[in-house]
Amino acid sequence: MTGPRLRAALDGVPEYRAGRSAPDGAYKLSSNENPYPPLPSVLAVLSNALGSVNRYPDFGATELTEALAARFGVRPDQIGLGTGSVGVAQQLVQSTAGPGDEVLYAWRSFEAYPIITQIAGAISVRVPLGPGARHDLPAMLAAITERTRIIFVCTPNNPTGTAVGRAELEHFLDAVPSDVLVVLDEAYTEFVRDPDVPDGIELARGRPNVAVLRTFSKAYGLAALRVGFVVASGPVAAAVRKTAVPFGVNTLAQRAAIASLAAEAELFERVDVLVAERARLRDGLLALGYDVPDSQANFVWVAFGAGASAGGPTGGSGAAAGPTVVELAAACAAAGVVVRPFGDDGVRITAAEPAATDLVLRAAAALLPPR
Ligand code: PMP
Repeated sequence: MTGPRLRAALDGVPEYRAGRSAPDGAYKLSSNENPYPPLPSVLAVLSNALGSVNRYPDFGATELTEALAARFGVRPDQIGLGTGSVGVAQQLVQSTAGPGDEVLYAWRSFEAYPIITQIAGAISVRVPLGPGARHDLPAMLAAITERTRIIFVCTPNNPTGTAVGRAELEHFLDAVPSDVLVVLDEAYTEFVRDPDVPDGIELARGRPNVAVLRTFSKAYGLAALRVGFVVASGPVAAAVRKTAVPFGVNTLAQRAAIASLAAEAELFERVDVLVAERARLRDGLLALGYDVPDSQANFVWVAFGAGASAGGPTGGSGAAAGPTVVELAAACAAAGVVVRPFGDDGVRITAAEPAATDLVLRAAAALLPPR
């Protein structure tokens, strides 16, 4: 007996591998989550909204859309919402690419890009990151063909934390054909401290083929509520609204997002603390000799193998004495911290509780031969 025929495009779709959940008592530094629980003001709004979940949400998320437009200085028709920014990314691919079309992005980058591309029946074109685990924008430009429909530039990049500088990004945007959509995935933008890293929404003004992806999951601490958005030109934002799951952004998500925009000052104090923790994590690992590129996100990347500098304990082929990706992840797990290994390439560690940073640094030190 044959089962129902499923679309061939789904064959071999890589499964999205979420960060491992942490055993009881362990720290979860594997999914780039915000370690802080919601603010009391946000919790109060959520409690109030619970009583109305028998009703459908506002279909157009009118109030949230208007709040976002006011916050970012754009028109409401330039906003599109989705179930997390991964939902919006999928809506953008569905809006631009079908069978035979090309979706261009760096690799390694956000693990959802290959999945949403393949589900659309489109073709992934991956351009390897350049030195320092940074986007190689000249190589990405060279990879554009007449079949390219959409380009993701993840800045800061998940999982390497590296961000794209203003001059290189402007040069890139000026050179991309105007009928190709460039999505600046800025899921981690609130953690950027490098003044050379531009605000995508500013860059997108006057560039109708540039869309900026943002989320309430990271800095705003609402990951479980699933709400993300795009700021784009009117037609692109309209396409995102058309391809949305109807009522996908639920009432709790809409209300909590509005309350979080109102509480930004308080939330961004927490972001400052996490940025300081990121520095402590990176500096500690660098002092031990690990290769950790500058991160502008809420995590750090410990590079191994070909992506790491040859002199370090994890670098190149001369790394016989150093630990492996698996050994570092296992040592952290044994110390009570779940981190995220990526093949042989590296380990991504979220900046969160200071006690967890201490445990990671101790575990990373214990793996090295005595100096
Ligand atoms: N973009 C990037 C670069 C991410 O790292 C993530 C979360 N892992 C997302 C988008 C999606 O986040 P969410 O769907 O929770 O907004």
